Amino acid sequence: MDTIAHWLDGKPFDGTSGHSAPVTNPATGVVTGRVALADAADVETAVAAAADAFPAWRDTSLAGRTQILFRFRELLNDRKEELAALVTAEHGKVASDALGEVTRGLEVVEFACGIPHLLKGGYTENASTRVDIFSIRQPLGPVAIISPFNFPAMVPMWFFPLAIAAGNTVVLKPSEKDPSSSLWLARLWHEAGLPAGVFNVVQGDKVAVDALLDSAAIKAVSFVGSTPVARYVYERGTANGKRVQALGGAKNHMLVLPDADLDLAADAAVNAGFGSAGERCMAISVVLAVGPIGDELVSKIAERAATITTGDSVRGADMGPLVTREHRDRVAGYLEAGESDGATVVLDGRGVRVDGSDDGFWLGPTVLDHVDPGMSVYTDEIFGPVLSVVRVDSYDEGLALINANPYGNGTAIFTNDGGAARRFHHEVEVGMVGINVPIPVPMAYYSFGGWKNSLFGDAHAHGTDGVAFFTRGKAVTARWLDPSHGGLELGFPRNT
Ligand code: NAD
Repeated sequence: MDTIAHWLDGKPFDGTSGHSAPVTNPATGVVTGRVALADAADVETAVAAAADAFPAWRDTSLAGRTQILFRFRELLNDRKEELAALVTAEHGKVASDALGEVTRGLEVVEFACGIPHLLKGGYTENASTRVDIFSIRQPLGPVAIISPFNFPAMVPMWFFPLAIAAGNTVVLKPSEKDPSSSLWLARLWHEAGLPAGVFNVVQGDKVAVDALLDSAAIKAVSFVGSTPVARYVYERGTANGKRVQALGGAKNHMLVLPDADLDLAADAAVNAGFGSAGERCMAISVVLAVGPIGDELVSKIAERAATITTGDSVRGADMGPLVTREHRDRVAGYLEAGESDGATVVLDGRGVRVDGSDDGFWLGPTVLDHVDPGMSVYTDEIFGPVLSVVRVDSYDEGLALINANPYGNGTAIFTNDGGAARRFHHEVEVGMVGINVPIPVPMAYYSFGGWKNSLFGDAHAHGTDGVAFFTRGKAVTARWLDPSHGGLELGFPRNT
């Protein structure tokens, strides 16, 4: 059985902890390998490799760094199907979805290829007589990236292309549920010519995370995962003096106004609710049906959701399994709770069977109607293929629900009224807003991030926030005396 190792100093590293955990194919329930779990000593070995590599990488010219980035981009583009297959084998999402994830990560690599332009500072000539001022941005040092199971390729790529391009070195701690993508990416960097120690991977769980948060050499932490862990990582990391961006969970609402195109809205709700089996932080999990459209919208959603096939990529299915048996059972538990709380089960995914694969972690698409904001299916992040419909009387009632929610990752409005849409994007307290677009994930040159309990810290991922996060600003004030100048001036600098 394969052991999935760490990667440091340009090669695999087995570690010395002696601990490992099983890795499972969610479509078959079969354990396909074991992943090493780092202890604090293994983490320090990886951090030391990153710290040793930093000075030379920081001082590598922008031309030198971008050549490696371009090579990495070309290799990744040529072999993206290989990476997508690894994602499917350990996460379970279907092939087209896995390829989509890799492509979104690739876009951040492409954005990072423009790092010479992104790092350009300002220059002011003659701020005072013969005194010039200029600003530069410099890398931080070794940085840590801690990622969740649901995007094992894309989420690390939200961060490491820019971190590396800006001159930092990286220690990535992927999810222990689907660790192979990170090693594949490490090998690709090696092939692209990245010097040893610039990109390292430690496999592990909370033990590895805590060691990274406590390591003095780590200057910044980019975390993505559930809200309780994000809050913890933010608090422990910042208490240790690190710069931290910690992206947390979500409960994304889609507000459908009575004037909306209901076919478009139903298509969008189904795609955004059930794509990747709902295991996306930008998945729509609540549809707010405004006014008289409720019955018609629910029937259009249910009709479409019922056509979704559940299964693995080999069968060409639309929707894959959930990531683990425990998670599947937890999501199914929410359906039971919703039913006993009085929600109407319009479509029930619990009975779904996939031929020849009885041990996969399956749950079909589920639609719950007449959900009340007091029910646990409404209040909790379920992270599965469950779409709840809440009936509201007005735009204002819908907006108030969204703004009262403790999460603020993504949201969408469906309407044909430009004025209503404009009012919504102005008033809603959420970081990413879609107008007739259900999953408004910004392109790499914008920044990705939510508000409230969906993000702790100030910087969103990638875009200009990403560049700022992985660099420190410095302002330099310089006076080069004219060759004809003479004499001393010991006073405080003045504008003359
Ligand atoms: P998770 O919080 O369980 O794990 C995330 C990472 O933290 C993993 O690397 C894991 O090993 C580590 N970890 C887990 N428990 C820990 C603990 N107690 N102490 C320290 N480290 C710990 O999240 P997950 O289940 O892997 O991912 C799903 C969650 O991630 C969902 O809540 C989803 O909304 C969220 N997510 C958010 C975004 C976003 O952009 N806001 C994107 C993707 C996923």
